[in-house]
Amino acid sequence: MSTFTSRTNIVTGNHEWVFVDDEQFDYQQELARSAFADMLHDHERNVQYEKAIIKTIDTLSKTLNRIHVLDIGTGTGLLSMMAARALMKTTCSSRITAVEVFQPMAKIAKKCIEKNGYHDRIRVIDKRSTELDLETDLQGDQINMIVAEVFDTELIGEGALRTFSEACKHLTIDNDNLRIVPSRAIIYIQLVESPFLQEFHTLKNLSKDEKRIRIPLDCRHLAGDTIFDLNANEIRDRLRPLSKPIPVFHFNFKSVDDRNNFTEEKILENIQCESDGQIDAFVMWWNLDMDEDGEIQLGTIPSWCYDDKDKAQHIQWREHWIHGIYYPQKPKAVKANEHVNLYSFHDEYSLYFDVGSSPFPPRSFTPAFLSRSAMSGFNNDQRRQKYVEGLQKSFSNSSIHRCLYIGDGLLLPLLVLEMYPQIELIILESSNVHLVQTLKAILENSSSQLSYRLIPTFEKDHVDLEKIDMILSEPFFTKSILPWDNLHFYYLLHQQTQPLNMKLFPQKARIRCIALEFDHLHKIRSPVQQCCQLDLSPFDEQILEASLNVDAIVEPQSLFEYSSKKPTLSPIIDLIEIDFRKNYQDKLEKNHFDIPITADGICNGIAFWIDYQLEEDLWLTTGIETENDSWATYSKQGVHLLLKPLKMRAGMKLSINAGFDFHQGQFLFDTLS
Ligand code: SAH
Repeated sequence: MSTFTSRTNIVTGNHEWVFVDDEQFDYQQELARSAFADMLHDHERNVQYEKAIIKTIDTLSKTLNRIHVLDIGTGTGLLSMMAARALMKTTCSSRITAVEVFQPMAKIAKKCIEKNGYHDRIRVIDKRSTELDLETDLQGDQINMIVAEVFDTELIGEGALRTFSEACKHLTIDNDNLRIVPSRAIIYIQLVESPFLQEFHTLKNLSKDEKRIRIPLDCRHLAGDTIFDLNANEIRDRLRPLSKPIPVFHFNFKSVDDRNNFTEEKILENIQCESDGQIDAFVMWWNLDMDEDGEIQLGTIPSWCYDDKDKAQHIQWREHWIHGIYYPQKPKAVKANEHVNLYSFHDEYSLYFDVGSSPFPPRSFTPAFLSRSAMSGFNNDQRRQKYVEGLQKSFSNSSIHRCLYIGDGLLLPLLVLEMYPQIELIILESSNVHLVQTLKAILENSSSQLSYRLIPTFEKDHVDLEKIDMILSEPFFTKSILPWDNLHFYYLLHQQTQPLNMKLFPQKARIRCIALEFDHLHKIRSPVQQCCQLDLSPFDEQILEASLNVDAIVEPQSLFEYSSKKPTLSPIIDLIEIDFRKNYQDKLEKNHFDIPITADGICNGIAFWIDYQLEEDLWLTTGIETENDSWATYSKQGVHLLLKPLKMRAGMKLSINAGFDFHQGQFLFDTLS
C-alpha cells in the first residue's frame, strides 16, 4: 500500500499531499512525532506509577486470591511489566491484559514484553479499551485492577473520563474490590496577572487614542477559547499569581459522572484575591492520587507553588505534560482581599474558566483562526516598533502614494492605515476567509477617512502593478509551520510577469542558525534504553527507524519555552540570504559551513530562524532578539535535535551543509560532523 503525507508547499502557499511509496509511512510518521520518548524519560512519573502499582497489588493480594490487571493504553508495555514484577512477589494467581489502540505501538509493546521475558504473563490486545468485550476479549474473567496513563496536559484531553467510566461499567461487576492506579485527580487553577500571557490572546489597540483603527471587541480573540499549553515554569518571571491555588474539579476514576456526556459546570464563589492586580489568565495544572489512600502523588504543579525551594529547583522537566493557560472572557481588575466568582466548565475533553458576571458557559466557544504565536506577533511591542521604524523610514520618501499589501498578517496593513491615512492601500485578500472577514470588520468599524481596497487576486484586472509604489508584507501566512514557510511571499512576487520596479518591504531575508546545548529539549528525541530496569530498546529501534524514514530533520518549536546553556556554543551564523527582488529561477543553493564553536559543551541542537530586512540597517528577527538576548515569542523557530550529541570544545568547528532549493521551496540542511 502507498500513502500520502502533508507538508506546507511554500511555492503555492498550501498544505499539499506528498505521495510516499511506503506502506509503513503513516504509522512511522505518527510514531516518529509522538512524545513517547519524553514521557519514558520522566523518571518521577515512572517511579510514582511503580510505587502505586506495588502498593495496590500488595493490598489486593491480602484479600483476593486472583488478580486480573487491565493496563489501558499500554504503550511500550511498561506498566504491565511493572505489574507482572509485583505480582510475581505474591502468592495470588494472576492475569494481565494490556490494551493499546495504536497498532504500531501494540506491536512495540509485544516486542518489549518479549525482550524482558514477560510474554507468558501479559496478553496484548490492539484495541481501544472502550471496545473490549468481557466475554470475547477477556473470556469472562473480570478485572479487579486497572492501571492507565491516558492523560495529557489538560488531564482529560485523551478521553480519560470515558476510558475509566466504560471500563468500570463493562469489565467488572465488583466495583468494591476494584482498584485503579491512579485512583483520583484534582484539577487546580490559579488566577494570574500577566500582560505577557494576554499577548497570546487579545489583539491590542494600535495606538493609545485609537485615532483611526478601532478593533471591535468580537474581533479580538482570534486564537479561540481553548487551552494555550506551555511550560509555565519557564515564564515564571512574566506572571504574578493573584490567588492561592484553587482546586476546581475532582475526579474519582472509579465513579466518573457520565451524565450530561461527561460535562460539568461549577461556580466557585468567593475566591479571595491576595493582592491588587488584573486577572489576565488562569494557570492550570493537576495532581493525581496514585493509590487509594492518596499517599503517592504525581502532578504538574508549577515550580512557584512549592514551599520547599530546593524541591522546586529539582522539579521534573517534562514536555508531555506541561501547563494549561486559559483566559477570562475579559480581564478583570481586582483589589487585595476582594472576592470573585470562578466559573468552571468541562466537557469530555476540554476545560473552560471565567471570572466575573458574564453568563457562563458562553453559548458558543470561539474557534481558533490564528495560532497563539501569531497573536503574539500582532501584539509584541518590539516587533511592532520595528515595523513602525521601517514604515517611517520608507514613507519619509514622499514619492510613495499607492501600496499593495500581501499576506495573512493583520498588523502591517492596519499600521500603514493608522500611520499614513494619505496613502492608498490595496490589500490582496488572504486565502483564509475568516481573516478576510476579520479585517473587513475592523476596517468597517474604523475611521471613514481610510483609503483602502481589497482585491481577490493581483491579476491586471484588479491592480496595475506599474502604478504601485511599494509592495509590503510582514511576511506571514497562516499555513506556515517553519519560519521559512513565510518565504511564500517571494513566490507570490515572482509569479508576476510585470517587472518589480517598486519598493519592496521587506527587501531581503536571511536564514540563520546557532549551535546550542539544550538543558532538556533534546530528551524528546533521545533513546530511552532502560526504564525502571526494564529494557525498552525495541521501542528505541522502532522510533529511530521511523524518524530516519519520515521525520523532518528540522522541527518547529517555541524556544522561549526551553532553556539552553549560556553562553551559546557558537555565535549566530548566516546561512543564506534571499533578495526578494532577485529571481533565483529554479536554483539550488547549497553550501558547506563550519560553525565556529566558542564555548565548551555538548551540542545537542541547532536552532534556525529567519530575519527580514525592512530597511537598510533595520532587521526584524524571528529568532534571537539581540537587544535582550532572548528568543522571539511571536514565531516558532526551527530546531534540529542531534541523534548523537557532540562533545565540543571552544576552538572546534561543527560542519553542516545548508541551503535553499528554490524550485521546491525547501530549506536544505544536513550535519556532517
Ligand atoms: N502506559 C504507557 C503508555 C502511556 S501513553 C506508559 O505509561 O508508558 C498512552 C497510550 O494510551 C497511548 O499509546 C495511546 O495510544 C493509548 N490509549 C489512550 N487511550 C486508550 C484507550 N482508551 N484504549 C487503548 N489505548 C489507549
